[in-house]
Amino acid sequence: MTIQEIFKHFDKIGCCTFATVDRDYPETRIAHFLVYDEEGLYFMTMNTKPFYKQLKKTGKVSVCGLSAKSTVEETAEGNLVFDAGYFIRLTGDVREVTIEEIRAKNDPAFAYCIADQERYPAMTAFVIYRAKGEIFDYDFEKEHRDHKLERERFSYGDFPVTAPGLTITENCIGCGTCASVCTFDAIEAQGNQYRINGNRCDECGNCFISCPADAITHKGI
Ligand code: SF4
Ligand code: SF4
Repeated sequence: MTIQEIFKHFDKIGCCTFATVDRDYPETRIAHFLVYDEEGLYFMTMNTKPFYKQLKKTGKVSVCGLSAKSTVEETAEGNLVFDAGYFIRLTGDVREVTIEEIRAKNDPAFAYCIADQERYPAMTAFVIYRAKGEIFDYDFEKEHRDHKLERERFSYGDFPVTAPGLTITENCIGCGTCASVCTFDAIEAQGNQYRINGNRCDECGNCFISCPADAITHKGI
């Protein structure tokens, strides 16, 4: 996935949650991305805010947002119903970008950044120049396709990224129990060979709990 495509997924959402760490605790606030280029995604804050201090001190940020109706309905049977949608999350390294650097780009896409800095001189920009992330596209009611989940992981700036989902090991005895308890249709069988399609796996744990051969590993340890 390109930086442009990542930006478009966030831009469709608009306001997102930005998380940093202050001493030992996470801190969150709502902000949004303004623009992107080949280096990464850009946002702004003021150098008088704790957000700025935390970004400068750690050089790290995590962002997530939801593109869906955010309320959750409960059915008469006591089940929760979520409208189909996606969330996107991204974690990476940030650096401050001075207004002089932004001016030197001579790129009309950055006009708002320059104008905002002129309105509020304490305003400054940051770019997430190296990151990994994921789009978690869900349709739990299977209204628009025949399976509940499509996950896609991405990275840029050489950030390492791991595949989602649990894994079936060579201890598998081919009993098929895991496939029968997976409501995400994430387990595929070829003969008595079973494998988990991580892009459909919710990491719900049903297969892990049910496997009689301890043949499934997860990343929650
Ligand atoms: S439940 Fe365990 S042993 Fe049975 S097919 Fe699945 S991974 Fe293999
Ligand atoms: S963890 Fe849940 S979603 Fe993933 S393969 Fe196992 S049963 Fe399916």
